[in-house]
Amino acid sequence: MGFHTALGLTRVINASTTFTALGGSLMPPEVLDAMREAAGAFVDMHELHAAAGRRLAELTRNEAAYATSGCAAALVLGVLAARTGGDPRLIGRISEGAAGEPDIPDEVVMHAAHRIPYDPAVTLAGARVRQIGNVLQTFDWELEAALTERTAAVLYVAGSHLPPGALPLDQVVRAAHERGVPVIVDAAAQLPPVSNLWHFTAEAGADLAVFSGGKALRGPQASGLMVGRADLVEAARLNGAPYQRLARAMKAGKEEIAGLLAAVQRYVELDHDALARDWEATVAHWLAELSDLPGVTATRDPLNEAGQPVPRVHLRVDATPDRVAAAITALRKDDPAVAVLPDAPLGAARGLWLGPDQLQPGEAEIVTAQVRRHLGGLAAD
Ligand SMILES: *Cc1c(COP(=O)(O)O)cnc(C)c1O
Repeated sequence: MGFHTALGLTRVINASTTFTALGGSLMPPEVLDAMREAAGAFVDMHELHAAAGRRLAELTRNEAAYATSGCAAALVLGVLAARTGGDPRLIGRISEGAAGEPDIPDEVVMHAAHRIPYDPAVTLAGARVRQIGNVLQTFDWELEAALTERTAAVLYVAGSHLPPGALPLDQVVRAAHERGVPVIVDAAAQLPPVSNLWHFTAEAGADLAVFSGGKALRGPQASGLMVGRADLVEAARLNGAPYQRLARAMKAGKEEIAGLLAAVQRYVELDHDALARDWEATVAHWLAELSDLPGVTATRDPLNEAGQPVPRVHLRVDATPDRVAAAITALRKDDPAVAVLPDAPLGAARGLWLGPDQLQPGEAEIVTAQVRRHLGGLAAD
């Protein structure tokens, strides 16, 4: 009996996106092979981290890199690195729960437009968010006033899908660096393009950038990548496993490190144009096969939910939000089960998105059939 059957679970076809709640992404054979090989031998974990970090830095054209147990974990480690600078005494005091002490900065500046469900990572690192601006606008003096001797870092979330109110990254980097404050860019889902692996740090001047290993990179779901300034990456490493410190709880195992490295290697060597052509073919197939559904308007969108260049199809349904929600739920509960992305929270959604990038061969046609089945009669009666 297979794994899913034995546990009474349904395999889900993922026509939505790289959601943690759906398992992130699927690892290609070279990643699985690397994990299996790493799993077969003991190794000095300090040496593994250092060697993999050097290789990840080369591959991503950065000064330094570090493998973590996820992008959220990389955020925690990045904030701890900024708070302690890698000083073992400060790391020790933070691990023992030191709070409000004058020599340990404890504020992380964030734009209101950048508040995301992952920013409790700041709290987990013993700091608090100092919010500036509102979702529509931030003034440069608001940033200047927030940068004080309490500031550990600025956490900047990248992506054109966010509300428009944040200052541009280059301006934030300039203002922060004038005061010696590092800028950490959360770029978890900002791939493709592959050049973002070095853009935020080497080109835009941020001190650290952090990515999910389990999204577009198709590494292990529980892996993340930190890239950037060598001293800060080293400071992050000193806060994490196998050291017995605060972030010991966010351990990346030898398998995750090996898997992430193989995934990054694969990603930088990948034929991204061919991949984009595959996605366009799936999008064209859906537009051709779903446009005749009564009450359904199918359109191509060039960007995915994180604002990145992955095309997808929007299906606007001429039916009440209740019926749209029921259809999306039915798709997900059917056999085969298909996960799609509602265009608003269920109950408000007027349609859904179909994304091509997480599908396995042959699944696009199954999605087509299931969508026709569940959306076909929706507007008609
Ligand atoms: C997915 C995501 C994270 C968390 O990444 P994990 O690798 O799942 O820990 C953090 N920030 C943003 C913007 C994300 O999209």
